[in-house]
Amino acid sequence: MGLVCFSPPQLSSNPLLSLLSALCFFVLVRPFSASSVPCVNSVLVRFSFLSPCYSLARMDTDLEFMQEALAEGRDAATAGEVPVGAVLVYDGKILARSGNRTIRDNDPTAHAEIIVLREAARLLSNYRLANTALYVTIEPCSMCAGAIIQARVPRLIYGADDPKGGAIRSCFEILSNPRLNHQVEVSSGVLATEAAAVLQSFFAARR
Ligand code: ZN
Repeated sequence: MGLVCFSPPQLSSNPLLSLLSALCFFVLVRPFSASSVPCVNSVLVRFSFLSPCYSLARMDTDLEFMQEALAEGRDAATAGEVPVGAVLVYDGKILARSGNRTIRDNDPTAHAEIIVLREAARLLSNYRLANTALYVTIEPCSMCAGAIIQARVPRLIYGADDPKGGAIRSCFEILSNPRLNHQVEVSSGVLATEAAAVLQSFFAARR
């Protein structure tokens, strides 16, 4: 899956023309943000004076959906599962949500991420999940990172790192392997303290 890249306009010798050109470019590019985020990010770096509004709005949305993922994680803890929660967002709305279900379902693959990917694919009648974003409280493992690639999820947002199995940057760097033809935009550390606290209190209560 190729990403559409945009090149910023060449700066003119006339400062006013340069500014107008930059503004037009930003307005034209921004609507494509969901499908070409890495490129938009590089644009935002170049026109950083325009980015605060865009970034703040996105951060707000990320926090909102991560709170929902945390709620799923807490529910999973109540059911005796390792408290990891996930929500799959499509067109700005939650399409699927779950916590881990491995113990309840006697299924080693029933991680929260796998469950929401399966459910979303079923609801969309499509095994490719374009225009989606996956929110998960803890850094995904290698199995889930593989599933994210198979589903062509464009964006992953997670909370706390998992030094014992995280496959995004802690133990492996699966999504950033340059040999893959699908690139996932990753945001980490969103409500990381809360996500780690849920996990820690769960294991502390079991000791
Ligand atoms: Zn996993």
